[in-house]
Amino acid sequence: MRQALVRSRAPLLGLILAIFGISPFVAQPVVAQPVVAQQDAAKTPLAQGEDAPFALKWHGQSFFELTTPKGTRVVIDPHAIEAYGRKTIEADLVLLSHLHTDHTRLEPITNKDKAKVLQGLKPSAQPGRGADFNPIEESFKDINLKTVLLYHDAMEGMQRGKNTAWVLETGGLRIVHLGDLGHKLTREQIRQIGQVDVLMVPVGGIYTINGSEAREVVDQLKPRRIIIPMHHSTRVYEDLLSPDEFLEDLPKDRIKKLAINKIEFRASDPVPQAPMIIMPNFE
Ligand SMILES: [Zn+2]
Repeated sequence: MRQALVRSRAPLLGLILAIFGISPFVAQPVVAQPVVAQQDAAKTPLAQGEDAPFALKWHGQSFFELTTPKGTRVVIDPHAIEAYGRKTIEADLVLLSHLHTDHTRLEPITNKDKAKVLQGLKPSAQPGRGADFNPIEESFKDINLKTVLLYHDAMEGMQRGKNTAWVLETGGLRIVHLGDLGHKLTREQIRQIGQVDVLMVPVGGIYTINGSEAREVVDQLKPRRIIIPMHHSTRVYEDLLSPDEFLEDLPKDRIKKLAINKIEFRASDPVPQAPMIIMPNFE
């Protein structure tokens, strides 16, 4: 696994550099003095270890797997939708935005008995009242995390219930997953979510905000680095709208469609002038 990661780093680094518009050739340090070059070469393995990337994999719908530079594995909103194939992954921490079955399935997590599972909502103590917000603000290994109460519809949950955003502060970045958001944000919700570096936002409509509403939410939160549209239809799963409305009229150089399901990024990457929209494949 370690070897595979190391082997795959060079092309991925190129990809990440390309995403931020940096040529890998320009990024190579040009060193005139051979002595200095030797010192740099000696430092390289250590420097790479210290500056390990975040890895973020998408498994379709709202299901993400984040590995921090320190190696903590976080799974968000796992599903067991057959069309996406049988996933098997390990996690240290599992975060659930709300209690619908395409966000709460632990079957793909092979070590689920050992993983810590945190729910943004909890079943209401009063029967028939749906779910209650479960405010969480705590640390787990190298991550500070908190929940922010949102709703699954534009009627404060009257139609589809409550929903939560997960806000993860780790390795110098703030990474936010909006669950099944169903509305534009209030000023208070924007304040609670705070600065966003990497945003996972639903765009597929029907049960959540659609593409144009998601664009408004992006304008509200102003993520700095990366936006990943989620909860939309794909080649194998057509129950939602496509991400086209979200992408409409955006400059093509801001959109990166990937052939693989994994992206890598570092807190040390330069902040782009406008955030990149990255569309990972689900496989
Ligand atoms: Zn839902």
